[in-house]
Order: sequence, then C-alpha cells, then structure tokens
Amino acid sequence: MRSSRLGRTGRAAALLALPVALALGAPPVLAGPSTQAGQVTPDRLPSTAQDGVALMRIVVPDQAAVDRLNDMGVDLVEYKKPVAGGLEVHAVLSPQESQQLRALGIDVRDPIADQRDYAAGQAERRAAIAENAVDAAETDTLTPLRAESFTSIDKQRFLSVEVKSSAGDAETVLTATWDAGRGTAPDSGGTATLARFTDAGQYMYHRFDEPLAVDARPTKVTITSSRGGSVTVPVTEWLGEPRKSPNPHYVSDFVDHYMDPTEVTDRITSLARQFPRIAQVIDLPYQTNGYRRAAQAQFGTAPASTLYVTSKAYGSEGGNDVSVALTQPAAAGAPLTVSVAGKAVTVNLATDAAGAVSSTAAQVVAALNAEPAAAALLTAATYRGNAGTGAVAAAPATRLSDNLKAPESVSRKPFQMKALRIGKKRDGSKVGVFLYCQEHAREWVTPLVCVETAERLLRNYARDPKTRKLVDDLDIFILPTVNPDGAHYSFYDYNMQRKNMTNYCAASAADPASRNSWGVDLNRNFSVGSLFDGYSGASTSCTSGTFAGPAELSEPEARNEVWLTERYPNIKFAMNTHSYGGYFMWPPGAYKADGRQLLPRADFGTENYFWSASDHILEAVKSWRGTAIWPGRTGPVPDVLYSAAGNSADEHWYNRGIIGWDFEVGADLYDQATKQFQPVGFQPPFAEGHEEAMEFASGQIGILEVARAFAGDRDRPDSKLRVTARTDTSTTFTFTEDEPANIYYTLDGSRPTLNSPKLTSAGMREGAQQLTVDRTTTVRWFAVDIAGNIENNYRPDGRHDNYNREQVRVGGRH
Ligand SMILES: [Zn+2]
Repeated sequence: MRSSRLGRTGRAAALLALPVALALGAPPVLAGPSTQAGQVTPDRLPSTAQDGVALMRIVVPDQAAVDRLNDMGVDLVEYKKPVAGGLEVHAVLSPQESQQLRALGIDVRDPIADQRDYAAGQAERRAAIAENAVDAAETDTLTPLRAESFTSIDKQRFLSVEVKSSAGDAETVLTATWDAGRGTAPDSGGTATLARFTDAGQYMYHRFDEPLAVDARPTKVTITSSRGGSVTVPVTEWLGEPRKSPNPHYVSDFVDHYMDPTEVTDRITSLARQFPRIAQVIDLPYQTNGYRRAAQAQFGTAPASTLYVTSKAYGSEGGNDVSVALTQPAAAGAPLTVSVAGKAVTVNLATDAAGAVSSTAAQVVAALNAEPAAAALLTAATYRGNAGTGAVAAAPATRLSDNLKAPESVSRKPFQMKALRIGKKRDGSKVGVFLYCQEHAREWVTPLVCVETAERLLRNYARDPKTRKLVDDLDIFILPTVNPDGAHYSFYDYNMQRKNMTNYCAASAADPASRNSWGVDLNRNFSVGSLFDGYSGASTSCTSGTFAGPAELSEPEARNEVWLTERYPNIKFAMNTHSYGGYFMWPPGAYKADGRQLLPRADFGTENYFWSASDHILEAVKSWRGTAIWPGRTGPVPDVLYSAAGNSADEHWYNRGIIGWDFEVGADLYDQATKQFQPVGFQPPFAEGHEEAMEFASGQIGILEVARAFAGDRDRPDSKLRVTARTDTSTTFTFTEDEPANIYYTLDGSRPTLNSPKLTSAGMREGAQQLTVDRTTTVRWFAVDIAGNIENNYRPDGRHDNYNREQVRVGGRH
C-alpha cells in the first residue's frame, strides 16, 4: 500500500468542510512562489511561458467531492475513472492552484503523463475490506446489469462486469470468477474483486474500475457476494468485429494537421464551392465577440503599490496604440496630475517634501479615471481589489498590449460562424442530423472529426452507393467549430483554453495575468438543467473552467446552436463531439446535487433505442483501428461521467426532442508492455490525433446510418408477454420486444391507450420492469417504437380492439 492512501479519511473530511463559495478559479493573489521576491505572480502564465500549468491527476473520495471541485471552479476535464479509494479526475492546474488544493487537503497527484500502477494497492485494500465483512448479517440478492467481453486495439481482449447488490453498503464485497472459453472450468479464466461505484453519495452498483485484460473470451461469469448472494450470467460480446468497407473505391483520410478555426471554416467554405449540388454554407446569425481583447499594461511589483490599465478600445482597434508613463517630477511637493497628448497618457506623480514619490496606487487609479481625456482611452484599477495604499514607482512610457499572438491571417473582428449543410434535398423534408464539434477550445481533435465526416460524405457521393443513400435521404448540418475565438486563443496564446474569450470579470480578476482564465464555458451556457436552475457542474466564478456565463444563452456561440435547431425543425439527431477519454453518452446530462435529482430519464423504449444505436455507432468507431469504447463509458452522462449543468445535448433533447448524443474522442490506450491504460490528453501528437479523428468520423457516419434507418423505419414492433416467476399466491411477468419500443398496458380490463401505464426500466442499466399480480388478470397492451410505429397498426385513440391480450394466471396448476 502506498503511503499516499493513508489519512484519506482526514482529507475527505477537510474537503467536505470547504465553504461552497470558495472560488478557486479566481486567481490567488500572491499565492505560491514568486518569480522575483515581492513581485506580482501570474497564476496562469501566458503560452510563451506556460511553465507549470499541467494536466494533473486528482483522487477524491466520491462523486460529492468531484461536484465540490466543480463548484470550486476547478478546471476539470471530461474524464473520470474509479480508482482505489475513490475517483480519479484530471484538472488543468497551475502550480499555485495545485498547491492551494493540496493545502485544502485534496489529493493532487502527478501529471497524467506518468500513470502509476494502482492495481496492487487496490487488491490489498479489497482484501482488507473482505476480511472485515465476514460477519455480514443478511444474504443479499445480486442483480446482474452487464457482463460483456470485447476486443480493442491489437485484438487485446477485455472483460467488463456490472452487478448490483441489494445490500450495496461499503462492507459488501463482490468477486467475479470466469472461465477461459467454451468447455473450460468455470474458474479457469480468473477471479477479481469488483469496485463499489457510488455517485453523489448514493450506491449505484459494483463494477470493474476498468475493463480487465483476459486471454480468452469467457462464456460465463459467476459473481459472489461476501453477504452470501451469488449469480451466474452469460458473458455477451460487446461490439462486433469491425465491419470493413466493402467498397474498395471508398476514400477517407482528408486531414493532415491540427487546423485552427480559420482554416477549418475556409475548408468547409471551399467544400461547398466544390460540391454545389449537394452542399451549401449556412451563415449563423450571431457573430462571436471575436479574437480580440482590450489592451492592458500593469505597473508595480508588490500588490499594494500595483495598478493596471485597460484600454476602452480593443487592442486591434486602437487600444494597442495607447501608452501610459508614470513620471516622477524633479521638484519636491509636486501635486498628482494627469496629462494626455493624443494616445499618450502621462501621470505626473506627487512628491513629498523630500522629493520622494508619495502617490499611492489608489490615488493614481482615481486620478486616471477622473481625467476625462484619459478616461476616454482607458480605465485604471488597483491589483485584484487591493486597497492600493503603497506608493507607486515611476515607469517610462509603456505601450498597452492586447497580448494576442495569432498571425495576421487570424481576423481580429467578430467571427462569422459557418455550418455546412449536406443533402441532395435540402428543403426540410428529410430527417435532419446536426453534427457539431469543438465547443471546448483546447479539444483540437474534434473539428478534424467534423471536417473529415464532411469530406467523406462529399467525396464519396459519386463513388459509393452507401454514402449516396445518406446524402440523398438525410439533411446533414455540420458545425465544425462552435468556439472559434477560444480555439484561436488555444492555438496561439494558451493551449489549455477551454472557454470562449469573452471576459465577464470585474476589476478584481481582470488584470493582465488573469487573462488565461477568462471566458464562458459554452457547454454550460444553455437553458435546460442549468446552473441558474440549480443544477450541478457549472460555476458562477468568471475565472472558473466551467463558468456558466452571466445568464442562460448569453453567448452568441450557444445561441447559434439553438437558432440552427429552431430554424430547421427537421433536425431529429445531434452529436456534440468533445475530447477526451472515449465516451458515448446521452441525456440526462445533469442533476441537482441534493439527492442526486436527475433531469427526467428517457423512457424505457427510448433508453433501449440509445443502447441499440450505440452498438451500431460504436462498431463504426471500432472499424477504423479496433478501438472499443467501454461499456462503462457508454450511457447517460451522469451515470458514466459527471453532472454538466446547462449542456447543449440537454438543450436539444428537452426543448426540442432532438436526440442529443455526446462523444468524447480519445479513448485510453492500452499499453501491452505495462498492462496499463494510458489517457491521451487534449492535443496528442498528431499521429494519435489523426487516428482519433478518423475513428470518430467513422462514428459520425454510423450516426448518419442510424438516422437514415430511423427515417425509413416503417416496421411495426412486435411484443410478447413473458412470465418470469410464480408463487402459489402471485405471478410476475414482463414484456419482450423485437426492437426497442415502449409498452403501454392495462390490468383493469380497460382498452390500453397512450395514457395507460408505460413499462419502465427496473432500474439504472437494468432490464425491463417486472410486474406482479396476486390474482388471475387479463393484461391488455401494445408497443410503439421510436419512430412512432404501433404494433399491429392499433390505434390507441380509435375504437378497434386489435391490441394484445393475455391472461396471467395466479395459483392452481402451473
Ligand atoms: Zn469538452
């Protein structure tokens, strides 16, 4: 056992005792080591000197602690993995932020580059727990949720198991044993202990922390509980073998470098010009604020004697031409005055009787803001809300700067966002699919996914019949970069930028060294299940990585998404592509932390549809290089990742009924030599980024195939009633369907309608609800699939009785 695990309880207690309002995202004033003694220290250095900002591994005890980090404004990335003693999350932290978190008792570990082996410690911990559990009181019941085997890159085979115990407390230990293939002994494959998975303080189920590498495909797995429960289930195959494209003329692989938003937008514009019959560009109505910033300069060293100025005009619009000088008059007893000549501002500092400067930072700030000619050019402020009582030092004339480093080819004007619309018939009559990428600036692989998908559709249209069907039968909207300003900033100024560039910070966090922390998290700025509605996973702090903005839909980038889905109501599917970790997710995407109150779950039939669609979509991802997205990273967002208040997929699903999926590209890579999974990060070497773009473009094509099947679905579902248990006094039954569908039923003899009870799921990641009757009952029911086809062409609002009907007998001979 590593010593780092000792004292975890103490750390957890410290973490939970933190005040919720603590805004870690706000730049700490002079926290941490200074570059020079007494000098003002930037918490996030500009990209030219990004020393120390790193993707750090943090281990917290539970989901509540993740939510707490989220609330504190820690820049958590879209990655979460259960590990011994809690959850591993990754955060972008400066050394000062790491230090601050550690001071609060939070277990901030190493940068992700050197992942450590925790398996041994894990096994040891579980053995200790198992020993404590021998006096378990009651036998528990085990409900198998999922038991799956799959291959991933290099044909390595894995086993993934999820089981729920009726006890589920911390003392309950579940162990899985499996065979080594058909005809082998039940325990010949191996044995491993499952981890207890909790979220927001609630027991969810047990599972392997990550899929276990196995040599052969097991046929069955037996799970036994320290409380006496036991269950044996067949192991099913997760994701089939990759489908190879049958068409040797199919072309792919159109991206050869990471592209900034200007390049990406030029590319889709040029594609629309090349393929005018099947593609067009849509200019989105809301221009972004633009890749531009006010110009600034800061004077001083110690906080009390430091002030900074910010130009009224953007740097590119004259702000960069403003200069400020702080001059010390030769005379003693001189007054503080401000003079302005053109764009040159001169502050003549006051001197005392001995001729030394006596003007404080606060006085200089007040004088600058009070002089109309100066105030027309700039505003002045003391350092991060400091009272500014220290005397300032003289300084030569200093040009203000917007500090932006992108080449001239990147416009400093508001950005015109463009979507590419692809389809033979673009009149709204075809089912629409909205593919959008790069809501988060630093996720550089994601726009490549969107561009690659567009190119494959357009360049294969004439040569591949399957592509032609997609383009002929669908109306496809591709928005390759939702966050162009932030992404330009990520490319040229600060590569870890996540948000857009719009600064909502007051003077206390608006100094030049705070500039890498400004902006709104676009995937927290939407209007459903938002921070403003009380949901978890977004921040009110303007410097937080998950800042929700001043109001719902405050940002033009977010409003453009809403506009597109409202303007084209034929859109029924959407894919929000992010990075990294390898996830496939769907709504709900947020909960209120108190009681883990989720946005409404999709109904049973829709949830089943999501799972069945995921097979097709994830097999498409796998077809490129064999990457299997894990079963444990597939499902509703909060079940597999975390709550994300105000995200766009929820916006599209709950407001407009658009099936809103999320990808996280960049699945962990399994290292055969160390037998460890390795996270890939946001900007892997292009060789890896390229593979991720290719495989998830294949996934997007898979989505289009799912959408086309939906559009053409005229098959009515078939359902059956199945008795699952009988006693002398009751009978339990459920229904089965030949495709994902909802079942409406009655038990009281009445005609079933769309207002009748609807079959639900037995629980998260479980199968169908089981219904129990205590006397012989005639069940009446019908099934409806996701496309609205009704079993046997029954009309729930009509008068005919062509629904299903079956008597469920209780007692007597059976
Ligand atoms: Zn993201």
